Amino acid sequence: MTARIGILGGTFDPIHYGHLAIAEEARLALQLDRVLFVPAAQQPLKRGAHIAAPEQRLAMVQLACAPNSAFEVSRIELDRPGPSFTLMTLEALHALRIGELHFILGDDALADLTRWYGAARVVELARIVAVGRPGIELDHTRIIQALPALSERLTVLPGPALDISSTVLRRRVAAGQPIRYQTPDAVVEFIDEHGLYR
Ligand code: ATP
Ligand code: MG
Repeated sequence: MTARIGILGGTFDPIHYGHLAIAEEARLALQLDRVLFVPAAQQPLKRGAHIAAPEQRLAMVQLACAPNSAFEVSRIELDRPGPSFTLMTLEALHALRIGELHFILGDDALADLTRWYGAARVVELARIVAVGRPGIELDHTRIIQALPALSERLTVLPGPALDISSTVLRRRVAAGQPIRYQTPDAVVEFIDEHGLYR
């Protein structure tokens, strides 16, 4: 049988329980064999906005994913020069024939998908799993109108809907506020030890 692979791309600056929870929810809903976390080297739509170094973001993703045997971390975008286009990542994974690809994203990211480089091809290479995000009201029928290829390829999951974001975590660290219980302890410790986001 073909393996069912989830892919969760992001800047993970830093990773938090929102990411881990949507990956686990998608794994359950779509019966994925594993979920690949793919930290972006430089996200095309977020140029210049990264705070922690790529290798630090990767290390935090590895720490957070270690306790779940279905979660894996890929360096594919870090080892490729230039901006991290999801299209290229999916082409590379497709060429490896590792299984059926399911790209997981939050509704805020889905709202941008039509602007992505090669959006139609992205949807051809991977089924799309969109997960609700607190504060984001998205009309999925409008997204499908803008990108009709999605209609047969989109699964919408309502939750777990954790109101956590990396932006807020960075601000909290900068303000000296705790981020414990919003990201795994190992990530909190890494941020402390490396003096990130202060
Ligand atoms: P930032 O505030 O820096 O943009 P973020 O919390 O949005 O960080 P990203 O690395 O940008 O995290 O997100 C990677 C992917 O995870 C995106 O598809 C995003 O929509 C999704 N995601 C992140 N947090 C949540 C959440 N709390 N609920 C649902 N989806 C989420
Ligand atoms: Mg984001």
